[in-house]
Amino acid sequence: MQSVDNYLAEIVAAITPLPPQTVQLTAAEGTVLAEGTATEWPLPGFDNSAMDGYAVRADDVATASAQHPVCLPVDAEVAAGDTAEHTVAPGRCVKIMTGALLPDGADAVVPVEWTDDGREIVAISRPSAPGNAIRRAGDDAKPGDLLLPAGTRLGPAQIGVLAAAGHGVVQVRRCPKVTVIATGNELAEPGSPLVPGRIWDSNSYMLAAAARQAGCEATRHPSLRDEPGAVLEAIDRAAASADLIMTSGGVSMGGEHDVVKAALDKLGSVGFRKVAMQPGMPQGFGLVGGAPGTPIFTLPGNPVSAFVSFWLFVRPALRALQGLDARQAPPRRSRLAGPITSPDGKRSFLRGIFDPEAGLVTPLTGQSSHQIASLARANSLIVIPERVTSLPAGELVDVLELS
Ligand code: AMP
Ligand code: MG
Repeated sequence: MQSVDNYLAEIVAAITPLPPQTVQLTAAEGTVLAEGTATEWPLPGFDNSAMDGYAVRADDVATASAQHPVCLPVDAEVAAGDTAEHTVAPGRCVKIMTGALLPDGADAVVPVEWTDDGREIVAISRPSAPGNAIRRAGDDAKPGDLLLPAGTRLGPAQIGVLAAAGHGVVQVRRCPKVTVIATGNELAEPGSPLVPGRIWDSNSYMLAAAARQAGCEATRHPSLRDEPGAVLEAIDRAAASADLIMTSGGVSMGGEHDVVKAALDKLGSVGFRKVAMQPGMPQGFGLVGGAPGTPIFTLPGNPVSAFVSFWLFVRPALRALQGLDARQAPPRRSRLAGPITSPDGKRSFLRGIFDPEAGLVTPLTGQSSHQIASLARANSLIVIPERVTSLPAGELVDVLELS
């Protein structure tokens, strides 16, 4: 049996990151920057007003008070977007709006709230220190400053700063396209009637959702019957368009019923193995299609096994495809709220409810690999090392948060 760590290392080593490409900023959400991106311009680009008010020389209003307001003639009005240059002469002022270019000569802005809002002459009732309500060019970023390093996933704020710095296009690795193929003669579509002996396909829905949550575009292939020819054909077609393929079912020890194994064994490029873990022991990984090859994960059919396998192996592979460090968030340490048992020689991943504030994790009842109801209640996986077979309540354990 292969260890969990060794299997993961093998997967990550086999992944070739997607090629960088130039995309419009409007299409960049969720992609990952392929190169560090700097600003050519200062942010903000010019000295401007932080408030609606009056641009003044601070000296002129130094004595202003409610009893003795300073009255200044208003020479002009400047709004955000105005490009005409203005000057504040000694003893005079310019009405100014938020974001407007600061006139020459001005070194402070008096907020309108400290004035009588005068049009031709304004009465100012409070002094304004030099620099008051002024946003200086480059106070956020200087020309040449790195805004975002390579490997940044572009969310709203990151898209925003790229737009603010004038980047209309960016070099990124796009969101991986993932195809999910469920196999099994027993599978029926949720929403359709069921006869005894059949089950509704949950894996392809679950795995497609998991891939989307990991930042991918996911397509569900309609579930396939246990016919190796049909499975191979679907995988071939998926390899031509997808960046990663997941199958579910058909990889355990059932001989001719193990359709995915039967279909892919001929290719020789997918390695089937047992990984020392519970759930999820039967695993297959390899590359299919033309070079560099599309990574394929043949996940076990039991829903919890499929989910845990996705979490441990497919998620890191998806990160590696986008040029990100494959490592996931480190586990949290927590105390067990109840006792657990675990098979000798396998790392087990038990469903639990983790309360980070209390530092406690409660193992759920129902830890069999078909018990998807308890998976849906869990917010974490409790990791029990290979050599540990039981632990009492109160012991410290590693916890993987499922979010
Ligand atoms: P297999 O790996 O094909 O031997 O399947 C193992 C178990 O997982 C069996 O109980 C299957 O019925 C179940 N199973 C397989 N595929 C799915 C699926 N797509 N959704 C839900 N359960 C499945
Ligand atoms: Mg099956």
